[in-house]
Amino acid sequence: MGKLLIVGSMAFDAIETPFGKTGKILGGAGTFIGLAASQFKVDAAIVSVVGDDFPQSYMDILKNKNIDLTGVEVVKGGKTFFWEGKYHNDLNSRDTLVTELNTLADFSPIVPDNFTDADVVMLGNLHPNIQMSVIHQMEKRPKLIILDTMNFWIDSTWDELMAVIKKIDVITINDAEARQMTGEYSLVKAAAKIQEMGPKYVVIKKGEHGALLFHKENIFFAPALPLEEVFDPTGAGDTFAGGFAGYLTETGNISFESMKNAIIHGSNLASFCVERFGTDRMVNLQKHEVDSRLMQFRDLTQFNIELT
Ligand code: AMP
Repeated sequence: MGKLLIVGSMAFDAIETPFGKTGKILGGAGTFIGLAASQFKVDAAIVSVVGDDFPQSYMDILKNKNIDLTGVEVVKGGKTFFWEGKYHNDLNSRDTLVTELNTLADFSPIVPDNFTDADVVMLGNLHPNIQMSVIHQMEKRPKLIILDTMNFWIDSTWDELMAVIKKIDVITINDAEARQMTGEYSLVKAAAKIQEMGPKYVVIKKGEHGALLFHKENIFFAPALPLEEVFDPTGAGDTFAGGFAGYLTETGNISFESMKNAIIHGSNLASFCVERFGTDRMVNLQKHEVDSRLMQFRDLTQFNIELT
């Protein structure tokens, strides 16, 4: 079975959407990536850090999905990373109200010995130096290194980000971040500039408008499934990334054609994530639900067109 190493935040999130508001609930990029990847036949491990205020029941949610948590450091007396966000009425944009790094501020990741030979590494949205440290700990070059980042790091750690993206294969970012990184409005031009920065594959996430995959002159687009219920988009990007990485790890095939499938699987899983607050939907997601929605995805996009 392919090995997938995930590095990402485990967090308390507080979320406000037009449909309601939560107190502190389970969140974090690493959490969402792990939950999505657990839908695939992979050996997955998360490297992260929490304080001892992080409930055992949250750890158990991930353990019950067979995710290896030996690389999750619990800091005695430390406080877990906290993020608070508020969505605008269209749910496609949000304001970050609070980012308390807490234990993430001086996190030195330690990759468990049995994952230093992972096939795929998924570097979740974190300080680029943390992402770099994980790459350095790998005993051999993984088959594929995927990196996700966000405006917070683009704004505050540009040089470090540029250093780490030289070493990766795939970057996943949203459209606003791609424009921010390159100063280009056109996503085609933005993706070309990002490829010059290092990653050979660029995935641009466009929320409810789907996702684009760029590689040299090739472009692939997958829509997001139009949903009746959209409750809370938090974690959709990470869930997408977890599905993308999980699929590629399971198949072991990292060709452009395989990445097209990975994009569909990622979009499919993200469509569930947004149906409830936080991780609720992903925790209880069943394989038959995933499979049947994949068929809906296929029907949504299949058409015959005569090119004469
Ligand atoms: P997404 O909606 O996919 O962009 O991811 C939201 C998740 O990212 C939330 O669960 C947050 O806990 C986490 N998050 C937000 N800001 C940061 C940050 N600066 N570093 C690490 N994780 C973050």
